[in-house]
Amino acid sequence: MVKGSFVVVRPDKVLRDAVVVVEDDRIVDVGKESELKGKYNRYEVIDGKGKVVFPGLVNCHTHAAMTLFRGYADDMVLSEWLTKKIWPIEAHLKPEDVYVGTLLACLEMLKSGTTAFADMYFYMDEAAKAIVESGLRAVISHGMIELGNVEKGEKEIREAERIVKSCQGLGDGRVTTMFGPHAPYTCSPEYLQKVKEIAEKYGVGIHIHLAETKDEVNKVKEAFGIDLKNKGVIEYINELGILDSSVLAAHVVWVSEKEIKILAEKNVKVAHNPVSNLKLASGVAPVPQMLRTGVSVGLATDGAASNNCLDMFEEMKVAAIVHKAYNFDPTVVSASEILEMATTGGAKALLLEKDIGTLEIGKKADIVIVDLKKPRLTPLHNIVSHLVYAAKGDDVCTVIVDGKVLMENHVVKVLDENKVMELAQKTAEDLISRAQT
Ligand SMILES: [Zn+2]
Repeated sequence: MVKGSFVVVRPDKVLRDAVVVVEDDRIVDVGKESELKGKYNRYEVIDGKGKVVFPGLVNCHTHAAMTLFRGYADDMVLSEWLTKKIWPIEAHLKPEDVYVGTLLACLEMLKSGTTAFADMYFYMDEAAKAIVESGLRAVISHGMIELGNVEKGEKEIREAERIVKSCQGLGDGRVTTMFGPHAPYTCSPEYLQKVKEIAEKYGVGIHIHLAETKDEVNKVKEAFGIDLKNKGVIEYINELGILDSSVLAAHVVWVSEKEIKILAEKNVKVAHNPVSNLKLASGVAPVPQMLRTGVSVGLATDGAASNNCLDMFEEMKVAAIVHKAYNFDPTVVSASEILEMATTGGAKALLLEKDIGTLEIGKKADIVIVDLKKPRLTPLHNIVSHLVYAAKGDDVCTVIVDGKVLMENHVVKVLDENKVMELAQKTAEDLISRAQT
């Protein structure tokens, strides 16, 4: 049983002096302590007096192992950053590097209140191993780059299928899978359609980068000779029959009003990555317009190479303020909408809406506790405001995933923090020296 001075059941439902009752991996009751007292006398108690208990944050687009490239290449444009810095070094990655990078990412996310994430990278069985060890929940996808090369495309499909078959359901069901065709400029239209067909066969979703930069239409033309004319990337991909409710589309910065309507109609899940979009100068996604049109939007950090951290509190604050300045209107998005994006929006994006995103009865016990006894969180008028605008990842003191306490009072119980950091430092150094020789 988790007691809290405040319990955020959902962003629009905050209870004072309440409890969340957990049995095994699920929430079996939630309500005012005065009403539930006595009913659960013999339950072990995690005391959140002076604290706020809320649903675990969901980071719905990242490349976890890229923590190894944190700070390795900054202040560059996306295409150059990818082709001159990131891709050459990625060519030297070994499977165990992905394990170490993902483990570091899990540690960072766990410590800052993220309980679930969507990951796209390669050597994903190594990533799965790290996720299972960390106790977190994740949807993983093998990132597929085809570039019109049939042989390479087939190889990528075989690997993606292998990951879906071998990793789906690992860690007591905490690991699920998707197919990850990288983007419309790295995968030909025929290939995207083929991947979609296979994903349907396995009954899993598709995780893809869409409309990230202004020149993506030109990049599609350059790669495959396809002239989109006046169409945007979303229209193009929709005409290929890719879009539906099982598609997780990362970024979606460059979209027309017509395309926003398509995203809403098809119930596509959008992963908004404000910090990465700002850092790479990709632009500002029209999130307020998407929300008003009924598009499902979640919040994400993207990889640590373009952020450079995986702190969803920072992401929430930036998401909340960037749209205000960009639209010259502080009312375009509220703190409550932002918290919703970071919880239920992310849950939908991971196709785990039935299991996570709120602290309602029947949901998985993915619970985060923030200590309110901090100068920056004093005084307290509105708990949701504090979570979005004032709290930092470091204020997270306790994290529970699947009913298991992963961190209690800032002490991580599942991983040896120093060991993980030492291993990551060494792994990153070895990787860079391999790439430079
Ligand atoms: Zn990405």
